[in-house]
Amino acid sequence: MNTKFYVDLEDLYGAHNYHPLDVVITKGKGVWVWDVNNQKYLDFLSAYSAVNQGHCHPTIVKALKNQAEKLTLTSRAFRNDQWPMLAKELSDLTGFDMVLPMNSGAEAVETALKAARMWGYQNKRIPENQAEIIVCSNNFHGRTITIISFTSEDLYKKDFGPFTPGFKMIPFGDIEAFEKAITPNTAAFLVEPIQAEAGIIMPPDGYLKDVKEVCESNNVLMIADEIQTGLGRTGKLFACEHEGVRPDVLIIGKSLGGGCYAVSAVLARREVLGLFTPGSHGSTFGANPLACAAAREALKVTKEEKMIENSAELGDYFINKLKTIKSRHIQEVRGKGLLIGIELKPEAGGARRFCEALEQEGLLCKETHENVIRFAPPLIIKKKELDWSFKRIKKVFKDLK
Ligand SMILES: *Cc1c(COP(=O)(O)O)cnc(C)c1O
Repeated sequence: MNTKFYVDLEDLYGAHNYHPLDVVITKGKGVWVWDVNNQKYLDFLSAYSAVNQGHCHPTIVKALKNQAEKLTLTSRAFRNDQWPMLAKELSDLTGFDMVLPMNSGAEAVETALKAARMWGYQNKRIPENQAEIIVCSNNFHGRTITIISFTSEDLYKKDFGPFTPGFKMIPFGDIEAFEKAITPNTAAFLVEPIQAEAGIIMPPDGYLKDVKEVCESNNVLMIADEIQTGLGRTGKLFACEHEGVRPDVLIIGKSLGGGCYAVSAVLARREVLGLFTPGSHGSTFGANPLACAAAREALKVTKEEKMIENSAELGDYFINKLKTIKSRHIQEVRGKGLLIGIELKPEAGGARRFCEALEQEGLLCKETHENVIRFAPPLIIKKKELDWSFKRIKKVFKDLK
């Protein structure tokens, strides 16, 4: 079966809520994937950083297989022997007291928002239904109706109203705007340490530190959405660590499941997550044994195989290399660790055509918004594979007029 067969089938029967490159992948191993014509590509997106550990990581797959043959789902009506282990391992790894497990990133964001509102009412004594949560413009936190209620992206919102109230938006990176937006009813500030979906937007140096200070002095929870930036992507376990900041609430997902399973979680102090009582929140698949087995092994190999160190070291190496490309199309190269963006000039004709040209060269990348190409290979990538990629990127910038 060729590419066209699958593309036509997908476009006929599948809803068109994505605009994928027309490459039909059938196999993956490490940083490489193969399409249905047995053409090989280097994956430079890693499923939006959900495949940090590489495709079909052997021990993650093994953990998943072993668990699949033993026990897959109990629901939380009963206990299983995997979830307590994952909860403890996550707490040991991160220093947070408690963990609330969910599946998708958006669900974990929703959970964090619930936790923050609950904390606001019970702990801060905010009057009923008055809790406010401050968010940033150009944020990306997922696709539920509540989450898109506070997006600044019209495309994400159009025709999906009415929306959830209780959110206030300020510019990302503007600490004064944040201070000004706080009222006695502010429960939390939700922020991405680097805005990945917005186009790898980095805040000014010291911003996260200032945010944490302002949160502390106003009794407001700092919620960091590290679903994409976390677990080594930026060269530290969490991107907030670049400024020595520990948020009050941390949201993780994506590569927590090792690219094999949807696993997300909210981490916080007991003072916050301890407020949940039986029945106040839940998820049928949250903390299922398969998810927990995958996540446990994903965390283990992230650490043991030094993926975080690799991300830091090779990220620096690659950003510096990209900066040597002389092209009239390039506005800026920026990033941290292996989360890198090339912003093109407005007149460059859009990032999409560059991604399509890179696909022809065997490198799978995705544009984010019109003018940014995101480079985010699996964190297991080697220097020689980056050099291989660099050659192709350089060629495409030379070829495209
Ligand atoms: C991907 C992402 C989400 C949403 O995760 P899903 O699993 O797609 O629901 C939320 N926040 C950030 C920062 C993300 O990158």
